[in-house]
Amino acid sequence: MPGSRRLLARLRDVMAGSGSPQERLDDIVTTIAMDFVAEVCSVYLLRAGEVLELFAATGLSRGAIHTTRLSIGEGLIGAIASQARPMVLEDAQTHPAFVYRPETGEEIFHSLAGVPVLRGGRVTGVLAVQNQTRRHYTDDEVETLETIAMVVAELIAGGGLISPDERQAVDGAALLPATLEGIRLNGGLAMGQAVFHEHQVPITKLVADEPRAEISRLKQSMAEMHGAIDAMLEASDVVNGGEHRDILETYRMFAEDAGWLARITEAINTGLTAEAAVEKVRNDTRARFRKQTDPYFRELLHDFNDLANRLLHHLVQPTSDTAAKDLPSDLILFARNMGPAELMDYDRTRLRALVLEGGSATTHVAIVARALDIPVVGRVSDALDRVEELDTVIVDGDTASIYIRPAEDTRNTYADMLSAWNQRKAAYTTLRDVPAQTKDGTRIALDINAGLVADMQQMEETGADGVGLYRTEIPFMNSADFPDVDRQAKIYKRVIDAAAGKPVTFRTLDIGGDKNLPYWRTGTEENPAMGWRAIRVALDRPMLMRHQFRALIRAAEGQELRLMFPMITEVSEFDDARNLLDLELSRAERRGRPLPKKLSVGTMLEVPALSFQLPVLLKRVDFISVGSNDLFQFLFASDRGSPHLADRYDSLAPAALFFLRHLVDNCAQTNTPLALCGEIAGRPLEAMALIGIGFRRLSMSPSSIGPVKTMIRSLSADELTRYIDSLSDHAEHSFREKLRQFAVDHGVMI
Ligand code: PEP
Ligand code: MG
Repeated sequence: MPGSRRLLARLRDVMAGSGSPQERLDDIVTTIAMDFVAEVCSVYLLRAGEVLELFAATGLSRGAIHTTRLSIGEGLIGAIASQARPMVLEDAQTHPAFVYRPETGEEIFHSLAGVPVLRGGRVTGVLAVQNQTRRHYTDDEVETLETIAMVVAELIAGGGLISPDERQAVDGAALLPATLEGIRLNGGLAMGQAVFHEHQVPITKLVADEPRAEISRLKQSMAEMHGAIDAMLEASDVVNGGEHRDILETYRMFAEDAGWLARITEAINTGLTAEAAVEKVRNDTRARFRKQTDPYFRELLHDFNDLANRLLHHLVQPTSDTAAKDLPSDLILFARNMGPAELMDYDRTRLRALVLEGGSATTHVAIVARALDIPVVGRVSDALDRVEELDTVIVDGDTASIYIRPAEDTRNTYADMLSAWNQRKAAYTTLRDVPAQTKDGTRIALDINAGLVADMQQMEETGADGVGLYRTEIPFMNSADFPDVDRQAKIYKRVIDAAAGKPVTFRTLDIGGDKNLPYWRTGTEENPAMGWRAIRVALDRPMLMRHQFRALIRAAEGQELRLMFPMITEVSEFDDARNLLDLELSRAERRGRPLPKKLSVGTMLEVPALSFQLPVLLKRVDFISVGSNDLFQFLFASDRGSPHLADRYDSLAPAALFFLRHLVDNCAQTNTPLALCGEIAGRPLEAMALIGIGFRRLSMSPSSIGPVKTMIRSLSADELTRYIDSLSDHAEHSFREKLRQFAVDHGVMI
């Protein structure tokens, strides 16, 4: 339809012109009116307080501009805004919603075609044409108006028509403040602007001269996208069917939906670029489905959104430069789910909080986020649909609440919340030098889990006894390629130095599972958590492991070296790893390098099978550290990352506690030091239970040291042990409630 393209090309010139935004808007309405042979063309903009104000018009009395105001839902214009749909009427005055505004002088006009001005799936104004006669506007004309509305939306977004403050207020009004709830994955408080991990593609070019070229770009990108979805479907982890495969199949059907393609093609034919056309169709769909609460439709909308985003990524390749440049300085990251390495790609100095639609306390991304000391809230359903990019967001990790577009008073209380949070932190700081000792005199060693050199500062701040788990894979994830021996040795040495004589337990590389290195793909597996990961990779790639040992030995020259292996499943694996270590020790010796002053070699216990070889294992190891995150997922056959299972089995279930107690008893018999470094160690109630069954060393994220120490100092360990013993023949799902009651009754500060 060449007419609309001509019009769009003219509007593009207007947009590129030098006038003020208001002058350009005036030009736009005049140009449209002429092209449409309409007596009236008007643009209403949404202002603060849910009011639509007439901003530009031809054919209406001039005095009405900036005077006529309608609320959302009021009159035909208000109805278009509230329904986010076009309205076409041959005789507007007989429509029940018609309201007469004398200042506009519009009683002589009969017909009206109006469309919402949409941006980011929300209404920001209304564009309308009117004629004196009873005119029939064709579908093509309405389509053209919708396309022009995109240009108007750009002009509004470009600023200068209403002040940025008001625009923010308008955005807030168009989508009211909302509070979302999830589960606490890490405490803390932060305010910033929402950024989607699946970065939205910026569309810089709206108008195209050559629709044919745009359609061929669209087709090519569609084909690429279908290819990518097919590849996803063929990936080994979905090939065997199941619900997720059905979902993906439906998704692919959706991607091939003829109606979707037709709507995008139609929009291109009106003169938009392929990417602007995809965005336009997405905007229309989002605006129309916005109020839908039916979960089926919300899922559909989800898929649609996702597909549009994918397609846009194929159409427009944003340079990493633009991606980085656009990030706000206070960044609240929203993701459906993400891997820990992806989180590390973000600039730490800007990252303030993480919000996940999925996730559980032990997903690695949550663990890494904890290492970064930012609040994390998981399992926030619909988070990505409820928030818009760059919305202001407050994340309260402690209560697992997310305040989106917070109202003025909430923003004000943020300051109070922050100071209360800081006070709490300060109170924990005062505990720094007091011992973690129970009321009945049992000393508990508290270590921190770390993975970044920067974490080491927290040792000093928390007064921890050492580093119970240094996850060496984190520096690997934070790197562009495999760090060589020199680079590794430097990192490990900095860690040892920063610990200033306190023990650091290095865990050898635990990659695979959900911890993939961007530069080393191990291939997809059906069950990556139970797949080729951790020590299994290391034993199959012995040089990888030997280089790490070499670096550790070098870093610990003349000092104590403590190391342990992840995912040891049977004693022979421990022996194999230990042999590789011995080879490296001999190599260092042969070369006359100073060796570590003392060597302690232990293992993580995170695969249940290993506990059935305790008698032989205990003869070999210097210590054991329980990795309860993995251990429980294998013990309960329950994926640690699955949001569906996050509450299914409890870490305070009888099986979990009695499994651990069996371990404690065995280690006690041989005097083998035993610690626990999974996430439960950092939760006061769980930590209390662990002490009750006999653990005397716990390792946790640094922010948990204060709360756990507070709990310990209010606890009488013997009393608790007796109480837990009395529960041996109980068969309930979990002891959580009983233990909580114990804490309340005995004044234990959980
Ligand atoms: C664990 O599994 O409990 C553990 C500490 O290791 P990670 O969380 O790194 O797998
Ligand atoms: Mg583990």
